[in-house]
Amino acid sequence: MAKVITAAEKRLFQNMWICLSCKSKFRSPGRPPAKCRKCDGKSFRIKNKVVKKAAGAK
Ligand SMILES: [Zn+2]
Repeated sequence: MAKVITAAEKRLFQNMWICLSCKSKFRSPGRPPAKCRKCDGKSFRIKNKVVKKAAGAK
């Protein structure tokens, strides 16, 4: 069953970056922020898709 991505979800997930260290979210168009404002981390991943795995997959 395919999930329809609404405009609101698209807006929420586009240009949204997540700090790999503290998991805080930053909105930055095109490229990741220079560094995390919370933990000064420089590693980010983009949040453009919500991947749902089965619980306990870790
Ligand atoms: Zn951080």
